[in-house]
Formats: sequence, C-alpha cells, structure tokens
Amino acid sequence: MIIRRRYRFFGIVQGVGFRPFIYRLAVAERLGGWVQNRHDGVLVEVEGPNDKVEAFVWTVRQSLPPLASISAWEGEAVEPEGEMTFRIIASTDKGEGIVHIPPDAATCTECLAELFDPTDRRYGYPFINCTNCGPRLTIISRVPYDRLNTSMACFPLCPDCRREYEDPHDRRFHAEPNACPVCGPVLSYLDEDGRTVAGDPIGAAAACLKAGLVVAIKGLGGFHLAVDATNEEAVARLRRRKRREEKPLAIMAKDLEAAAALGEIGEEEMALLASAQRPIVLVRRRKGAPLADAVAPGVPDIGVMLPYTPLHHLLMGVGFTSLVMTSGNVTDEPICVGNREAVARLRGVADGFLVHNRDILVRCDDSIIAAGDGFARMVRRSRGFVPQPLFLGRTFPSVLALGAHFKSTVCILKGDAAFISPHIGDLETPQARDFFDDSVDLMERITECRPEIVACDLHPAFYSTRVARRRGGRVIFVQHHHAHVVSCMAENGYRGEVIGLAMDGTGYGTDGTVWGGEFLVADERDFRRMGHILPFSLPGGERAVREPWRVAVSLLRQALPVTWSVLCEELGLLPRLYDEAVLEQIMDLQVSPVCSSLGRLFDGVAALLGIRHRAAFEGQAAMGLEELAGRQPLSSLPYDIVSADGVRHVDFRRLVAALAEGVKAGKDRGALAAAFHGTVISALAEMAECIRKDTGLHIVALSGGCFQNRLLFRGCLEELKRRDFKVLFQRRLPCNDGGIALGQAVCAGARAEAE
Ligand code: ZN
Ligand code: ZN
Ligand code: FE
Repeated sequence: MIIRRRYRFFGIVQGVGFRPFIYRLAVAERLGGWVQNRHDGVLVEVEGPNDKVEAFVWTVRQSLPPLASISAWEGEAVEPEGEMTFRIIASTDKGEGIVHIPPDAATCTECLAELFDPTDRRYGYPFINCTNCGPRLTIISRVPYDRLNTSMACFPLCPDCRREYEDPHDRRFHAEPNACPVCGPVLSYLDEDGRTVAGDPIGAAAACLKAGLVVAIKGLGGFHLAVDATNEEAVARLRRRKRREEKPLAIMAKDLEAAAALGEIGEEEMALLASAQRPIVLVRRRKGAPLADAVAPGVPDIGVMLPYTPLHHLLMGVGFTSLVMTSGNVTDEPICVGNREAVARLRGVADGFLVHNRDILVRCDDSIIAAGDGFARMVRRSRGFVPQPLFLGRTFPSVLALGAHFKSTVCILKGDAAFISPHIGDLETPQARDFFDDSVDLMERITECRPEIVACDLHPAFYSTRVARRRGGRVIFVQHHHAHVVSCMAENGYRGEVIGLAMDGTGYGTDGTVWGGEFLVADERDFRRMGHILPFSLPGGERAVREPWRVAVSLLRQALPVTWSVLCEELGLLPRLYDEAVLEQIMDLQVSPVCSSLGRLFDGVAALLGIRHRAAFEGQAAMGLEELAGRQPLSSLPYDIVSADGVRHVDFRRLVAALAEGVKAGKDRGALAAAFHGTVISALAEMAECIRKDTGLHIVALSGGCFQNRLLFRGCLEELKRRDFKVLFQRRLPCNDGGIALGQAVCAGARAEAE
C-alpha cells in the first residue's frame, strides 16, 4: 500500500546538512516527496510503500548528521499524490515559532584533508568549509539561515562552487558559507597602522610572531591577540600592552600531542579539545611545560584549545606548537570584530593584523570548559554552543532576562526553549554596554521574539536594571542568589523545592546588604533565606575585592576582638602606608558595608595565609588558595552554626582564629589552605543537614561562582552524597554569573504563569 506522511522536525536542523541527509535517505529508499526549511524547523513529506515510509522517520532519528539534533518532531498522514521522485524545495518564510540557527563548528577532517592536499582546488585556502563545518551564527544577519542572510551574500558563488552547492550528493550541498579561492573571501596582512602589506599574509604574520611581536588575528567570533607562547619576552610584551597584568592567557596548541605536553590531558579533556565546539579547556598545567611563565602565573590551570578555523591550521602549520591566543580587546572592553575597528582599538597593542574580508556579524568569544573530575563544567558559554537553546521540558510565557552585571549574558525564554546569548562580559565600560544592547537586539532578532516580560536583578544600580526599566513592559525582579539556584534547577529539569547553596562573591540581597554565602529553600518562583555566613564588614567596600588584605583584617578583628591588631602586624597584613588611625577609620563598621559572601571569605583567608594581599581580578586570591591546597588531604578546623531569629549563621570565627594561629606558629600553609577548604565543605554539608531536618527536603542545588573551585565543588559533592543527598549542579551553563540570566528567565516565567 502506498502512503504519504508529513513530518515536522524541530531542533538544530538548519545549516547542519539536514536537508541533504533527508534527501539522500529518501532517494536511497526510492521514496517520493520533498524537504523544505521552514521558519520553525524542517518540513518533510514522504510517499511510498507503507513499511518504508514507517521506517523512514526512525532512520532519520537514528542516523542524524554530526551537528544536528532533534528536540521534537511530529508526523501526520496526508493524501498520496503519486509523487515518485524526491526533491529539496526552496525555503519559505511561512510558519510560526522558533528557528534554530546552528552554532559555529570547527573545520572537519574532510575539509582539513583537502586543505593540505596540493591537488585540491582549495589547497591552502583559509576559508574552506562544508555542510558539517565552518562559520554559522557569527556570519548571520537575520533568519532563516540562508546565504543571502549572511555576510557571504557579497561573494557570489563561482560555477564550481555553485555546482557543489546545488548537488545533493556533494558534501557541500547547501553549505551556505561555501567558498573557494576563485569566488570567496581573501586574507590580507596589515601593518601596525592598518596599511596592507604585499606578499603572503600568513608568512608575514608568522615572521612577526617568530620575532616575538604581537599579531591580531581575525577569527570566527572576533579578533585574537597572538604571541609565541614559549617566548617569555613576547608574553610579557602582550601583557604590558593589553594592560592585563595577571589574568591567565589562553593557549592554542597545534594538536592533541602539543596540548598534552602543556597540561594533564586525559580522555575527557581530549574529547573536549577535539570536539566541533573547540572550547578553551582548563587543564592542570604540566610541570616543566614548554610555556613562558607569564602565560598563567600563580594559578593551577592553563586554558588550552586546538585550532578551529582553516586559518588557525595554516598558521600553526608554519612551525608553531603553541601560541597565546587571547581575546582581541583592551581589558574590560568587548572583543574586536571589524577590521578597521581592530586597527583603531588595538593600536599600540598589535604589531600587525592578519585579517580577511568576510565580516563577523555576531561577536562571540571562545567558550571555556573546566575538565577533570570525570565531568566537564562550563565556565563561559559562547562560540560553538550559542545559540543552541536549552530545552526546559515544558513551556513558559516569553521572557527576556537581562542577567547580572559581571560575566553578563542575556536570555530569551520562548516556548520550551531558553536561548542564552554569547558571553557579553562585565558591563563596566560604554563599549560593553553597547555590546549588551546589541546582544538583546540579536537575541530578539534570531528568536523572532520581543517578550513583554523582562526579568532583571534586584540591584538598583545595575546597568541591566536600568535597561529593564527603560524598556517598559512588565519588569520582574529576581534576587541574585535565587536566580543562581533556579538556573541550576532549570538545567537539571527540576521544578520542586530544593535546598539551594548559592556561594559567590557578590549579590544584592533583599535587605540591601551584600550576600554571597546563602542557604536557601527555593522553588522556581520564590525562596526563603534559611541561613547564611555570619556577616563581616568589607572595609572600603568595593576596594576590598581588589585588596583582600582588607578582608583579612576585618575577619581577624571579628574573630579576635582583643588581639587582632597585634596579629595583623605580626602577620604583615597591613600595607606600610596605613597608620593605626587611618586603619580604624577604614575599619569603621558604621561606614563599611557588611557581607555574607563566601567569595570574600576565600579572598580574606588567602591574604591571611600570605598568598596575596592584592588581587588583579576578582577571584585571583581564591584561586591561589586552591592552588596552595594542592592535593593535600582536607582536614577540618572548628566552626559553629548558630541560630539567630530563625535564621542560621555559619560562624567561621574559630576557623579564622585557628588559621591565624597556624600561620603565626609557622605551620605548613598548604595544609592550612587544605584545612580551610575542608572546614567550609563540612559547614556547607552540615547546613544542608540542618535544613533537611527543618523541611524534609533532600535535594541540594549547588550554584554560584565559588563552585568553580574544584576542591570545594568536588568536596561538597562527595560529602553531600555521603550524607544521602541528591545533588544538582550545572554543567552546560556556568555556575558563575554567566548562568544568572537563565535563572531569572525561568523564575519570571514561572511567576507570570502562576498568575
Ligand atoms: Zn568541513
Ligand atoms: Zn568558488
Ligand atoms: Fe553570583
């Protein structure tokens, strides 16, 4: 019997070779019908013998092309039309709903083979790509994803490329960015003033790098600044010029072998490094790694990635095993994307520019994933992952969530999908704020959704909060740590009540003070603050973030109200410039804000243990503490959990006193750092236990930037499991503030829905 079926496929089914895949399957089975890209996915009609048509959809789902994924599908019977052949018909703008634009993908093995094959017509061509690889999101201006809506629109296909593009049996069939040396983009090399240099651009860039100079390289989602990673002087030069004194710099290794010489690379790390997403993978630095010391001073990990564009492969092929490849910006500003923009903004930083004439339309930083512990966790989600949505398992009203202030991302909730923007960064500069506005615009454009409901942080002074107010519509405020916990719940598809452990640096509390060591009972809509770290003062307010010695002094004074000032001197905590009167002044509890932040506690203890008294970036001191603890056993020092007004305080005063005594007595600081970690883990687990007794809840959600610390994270996970808790944590989104937007969106969506 001849039947005809109509199927709709949703998910990542456009720009990933889905239509030719359907075509080839149908042709192989001698089925009639057609396939078409729609706004909301892919529409297929197949006609033929009963059994073959029935089997068709199963084969589709089981043998998808590598970059495709189906989030949902539906099928219905339609009247047979007697169609004997199968065809691909033109895209249509019809159809409501969500379109899924694919993320950018690293050069595939087939393309790589052609790139280095002297007989291939694309031999050495830096823009080679196919249906399975190449730029996607970063070249798009609007949906649907078709060449005319990308920055490839200005490169008409040559006859050879057109033949490939139109041949369903070719692996470049409907590869929208398809190009070759005849018709496609070209490279050029510019000197420091932006003048084109004649000759081989890659050769010129390589010569510059080998001379220890800095080259800006146009990548997929923006510019990188590159230097030879083995050249101490070159790395120092880059740091000086970029005004990035101490933050670790990412490294591009030539291949897996080169990466393994730099860091401890296990199977998990290897899979991540070689994945189509090609994130920066944080790995333990190998002792004696052939790297300049200045690449990642004072931190346990290095960030390594493999080449992901043909240009990277060609450049590494000129005799480099590792290059520093850090984002092409000046500290705190967004990454450069335009050629002229790069020449202007990176003047005085780069000695040359390796550029091309394919425009980057969407700014997208490298993604960062922390490996190890048997599972990978996202630290920064951007290129390769964005705009792939997170499917939430149920539908919500549409929401735009504006995220936090640091590590900003925005999120659009539409139907059952959460679309999270590329990493925007810290909203401190006018450039970053422009990028923020652009990102909201981008997400609305590609999701074709302009939500009425806007979610934002409680903090009245945040730029994002001002944007929410300015935009109008309905504004729903979500407390920072509640958003952390809901983000974790949403990623895990959990919507009941949980014990939420939100541990981070700073978040605005409902009482107007700084929170950051919070024990909540939360569901998607609401939360109760069941406990927190005993608040301590932050002398000098925000300055304490960059000057952890201030926190150390404050902690000591709180722990040892009589002997603290003597101890401060004995431990050398005070900068020479402060006399006692000034110190009293900055310590004045009337003017200093208080906080309950675990992040600040880590900073303060790092200073106490003499790791660093000042920090070049938030979290640096805490990272040093993790590094110092190394792999020593985590013992526990005393602490207290005290009830006050129905709320529990985790009181670390005895811990601080014990650490100070330990330092004074000359005990091994690594052991003290490990004991500090161990004590915090015990306290967190004991608090979860207390809340379980109060509420009967046994599911714990861990979130907040502190859990990027592996010792803390792994310790909490083990200890909570040992005590029979079910633990939720984040993997696909960062546990830091990059995940806040999702939590805000789901919270606001759930609240709106409940009304
Ligand atoms: Zn390819
Ligand atoms: Zn061509
Ligand atoms: Fe946070």
